[in-house]
Amino acid sequence: MFAEVIVDISHSEADKIFEYSVSDCGIVAGSRVLVPFGNKTVEGIVIRVKSECEFDKSKIKPVISLLEDVPAFTAETLALSEYVVKTCYVSRALAFMLFFSAEMRKGRVREQFVKYAALADGVDADELSGSLRKSAKKQKELIAFLLENGKTPVAELNAEFGSAVKALAEKNALVITAEKRFRSPYRDLGGSGGKVNLTEKQRQAVNGIVSSEKLTTLLFGITGSGKTEVYLELIDRTLKQGKTAIMLVPEISLTPQMLKKLRARFGENAAILHSGLSAGERYDEWWRLRTGEARIAIGARSAIFAPVENLGLIIVDEEHDGSYTSESAPRYATIDVAKFRSGYNGAKLVLGSATPSVESYLAAKGGEYNLFELPDRINKKPLPEIEIADMRKEVRHGNNSPFSSILKAELSDCLKKGNQAIIFLNQRGYSKTVVCTECGHVQKCSACDVSLTYHREDDSLLCHYCGAKYKMVKACTECGSPYLKYGGFGTEKIVADLRELFPSAKILRMDRDTTQTKEGHFKILNQFASREADILVGTQMIAKGHDFPFVTLVGILDADMSLHFSDFRSAERTFQLITQVAGRSGRADEAGKVVLQTYQPENHVLRQAINYDYKGFFEREISIRKATAFPPYTKIIRVLVQSENEESAVIAVKKIYENIDTVRRERPSVFRFFGCMKAPLKKLQGKYRYQVLMRIDNGNDDILDRIYTLTNAENRGKINAYMEINPNNLT
Ligand code: ADP
Ligand code: ZN
Ligand code: ZN
Repeated sequence: MFAEVIVDISHSEADKIFEYSVSDCGIVAGSRVLVPFGNKTVEGIVIRVKSECEFDKSKIKPVISLLEDVPAFTAETLALSEYVVKTCYVSRALAFMLFFSAEMRKGRVREQFVKYAALADGVDADELSGSLRKSAKKQKELIAFLLENGKTPVAELNAEFGSAVKALAEKNALVITAEKRFRSPYRDLGGSGGKVNLTEKQRQAVNGIVSSEKLTTLLFGITGSGKTEVYLELIDRTLKQGKTAIMLVPEISLTPQMLKKLRARFGENAAILHSGLSAGERYDEWWRLRTGEARIAIGARSAIFAPVENLGLIIVDEEHDGSYTSESAPRYATIDVAKFRSGYNGAKLVLGSATPSVESYLAAKGGEYNLFELPDRINKKPLPEIEIADMRKEVRHGNNSPFSSILKAELSDCLKKGNQAIIFLNQRGYSKTVVCTECGHVQKCSACDVSLTYHREDDSLLCHYCGAKYKMVKACTECGSPYLKYGGFGTEKIVADLRELFPSAKILRMDRDTTQTKEGHFKILNQFASREADILVGTQMIAKGHDFPFVTLVGILDADMSLHFSDFRSAERTFQLITQVAGRSGRADEAGKVVLQTYQPENHVLRQAINYDYKGFFEREISIRKATAFPPYTKIIRVLVQSENEESAVIAVKKIYENIDTVRRERPSVFRFFGCMKAPLKKLQGKYRYQVLMRIDNGNDDILDRIYTLTNAENRGKINAYMEINPNNLT
């Protein structure tokens, strides 16, 4: 027999299939194996086993060994990896990494075993005890203990009975077994909340989804409308059919709270997969899913590649969220991958959101997806009122602080009543920039074309793009003037200001800087949920999904910020963000309130957001997209060229541009836009960035294939060139 193997060598240019011979030892398609490669031994994945081979058989080397008894890949995940190779334009080796993460490979983690001891079969305890010397008291106690308690971990016995364990083992009186121990994350999570009685609307959605012919459903439910209960009920029914489920949330920080709900209802059936886990935990959770011991995979986007078989349901919560598009290779769109798996298995795919992406709502309206709506909050509680604070007026009245007078008054009121507040600001650090008041020079990163953010906690200047850290300067690096001022404020400064305004209030901050540790998110959220703090200040990490019943006030400090991005999705993002953040307020008994600070109070996106008018927003937005030929009516294709040498980048991008132009001339009308330019972020991590930007009518995938080939041809030496399809981030 012969096996076709993809070898796991990183940076392998060669995406070739290698052949090895196998003797009949359980190796099947999907098995991970060790194979000889050059003079090394490497891991590989068998993609096919066959009886014939096209090469000279005498030169074919045998597979060294099988890594696991259970093949890591199933027929479905092998097919899915081929799909990723085709649609994301990546090598097979890279596609496989999505399924089986780096830290799980190369023998870095192994199962953990726990040794147990029990009295060996046929040992008569009394007889054995009697045969021992009088002084062997501990051994006698151990025999009595094992007689009473049975199999016990050896470590525990050693602690209690010391050398007696070894002594009895040497007499062959004990049987020692090794059992696999699962490392399980978030063990102290607890589980609460049983089953609720679904509302009429929730029941309609569940029944509709289950009985529909269509596989994909958009569950359009406002914040707090009980979408999660719909998911739980659907999962319940899926498990009862003997099938498995995948549940995705947009952020790792949201996984523990969802896991808690899943464990409360489905116990050990839930397994969590995300990059924040330790390698061992991840390995164990992965194999629990692979072997069917756990049947619900929960995680952020990468959990869409969970190794479950017999998939019956996929849920993508907050489906509009940008985090579902991967920004590094393989650049997959989670919903597309979900559709592949749904189609392959005939599994239901549920996309849930209070603010669906324009693409999804269009598909639902057009009948391609089912559409179910949950238009009310549970118990008909109203959505919180959103009040606009016009920051232009505040400035005119001499208020230069980050807080409007309305927000200050509301905060004070909220704290007096003993309620909690959330302050949202999408900027971490103390001040966004440091500017010289003499010459206007802004402190910049030496590797990137971006300004540096001041972090007061460690008195440093940080580049938020490459992570470089500089000492805070005492004087302008351009003119030497010591008069520097801070421009724009971040979460650190907001916390400092709030401490001055409300000295007795307890304040927590949640942003990338305060959540570095493994369960960092979880700790802060838990503290806030258990009311150890009155105010939570945070970045978009706090915007999504969290259910804090005592929050009655939300302050949005910089609602317009995302409007300024030169991205076609900026209106959509702004609308989504405001709705999401506002949705954190007034979720329990007391009505909630939101203060939205802005410099453009007349902006139509803000107006529609404060009225929760999603449909109005959608109609306007989709007509703009149609008129201007933007997605979902076209695809945005960007070829990004990066090099440390600016001239080489320019030469390469021009060559790619000219080559694509030949393709364009065959079908010019398909190209709605075609241009070559500097990327908005001109330099990143020491590399100059240039781009070819295109908008191409849908349904021209052959052109995309050709653009990919032309791009890849220049991706060599010191040039890094790659193609992105509908990238999330066009900086
Ligand atoms: P969403 O995910 O749509 O924002 P949730 O599922 O978090 O909303 O529901 C909001 C709150 O309402 C939660 O505290 C949840 O426990 C509660 N809830 C949901 N459905 C019901 C129901 N049928 N009966 C009672 N409470 C419910
Ligand atoms: Zn200066
Ligand atoms: Zn930098």
